[in-house]
Amino acid sequence: MATPRPILIVEDDAALRSTLVEQLAIDGDFAADEAESAGEAEAKLANANARYDAILLDIGLPDADGRDFCAKLRREGRQMPIIMLTGADAEADIIRGLDAGANDYIAKPFRLPELLARVRAQLRVFDNSEDAVFTVGPYLFRPSAKLLMEPARNRKIRLTDKESAILKFLYRAGGKPVPRQILLNEVWGYNSAVTTHTLETHIYRLRQKIEPDPSHTRLLLTEAGGYKLDPVAGNPPA
Ligand code: CA
Repeated sequence: MATPRPILIVEDDAALRSTLVEQLAIDGDFAADEAESAGEAEAKLANANARYDAILLDIGLPDADGRDFCAKLRREGRQMPIIMLTGADAEADIIRGLDAGANDYIAKPFRLPELLARVRAQLRVFDNSEDAVFTVGPYLFRPSAKLLMEPARNRKIRLTDKESAILKFLYRAGGKPVPRQILLNEVWGYNSAVTTHTLETHIYRLRQKIEPDPSHTRLLLTEAGGYKLDPVAGNPPA
């Protein structure tokens, strides 16, 4: 099963907020955290260990206009998808929200399946963008830069094209084993003459780079005739 993706819900309506948290937990793809004000959201985002893949942001917050808060987050360089929850679907409100850097909006009252579909759609776009960052064990993985950053030890690991492609494909598989032949086809192409031996060599080098102890692999595991990634292995306890 894929790791649930952390989502921050910023909404002052306590009933709506708890319904969203509950429903996202039932859905299983998301792990929701909540804030009732822009101030609380800001404090949560400022925590060095915090990571949110997307934000659901109410427009009418007690201490801020959600659109202004959205613009502030963009100015601070935060790139994750932001979906505005709007009270009124007045066109001007929506345009201002999108101008502030929101990726999408949904007018209240909304149906939950529609909200989830929009969150998924925005995450798909983001995952394929230059800005995408994934957590893999103790690392933050930026496929576009072919870079692993390990904040706890303040170090960076550079990956080759192929290593980055392997890691990205295994990450997308959501913790399920990927057969060698499929990985080979995905990374080198269906018509390549490369053999599984080449793949194994790349996996070996990748393990030397990312495994704290390459003789006892914890992140990149051999399983069921292929490989799988355990993206939560080696994470500091929450
Ligand atoms: Ca509100």
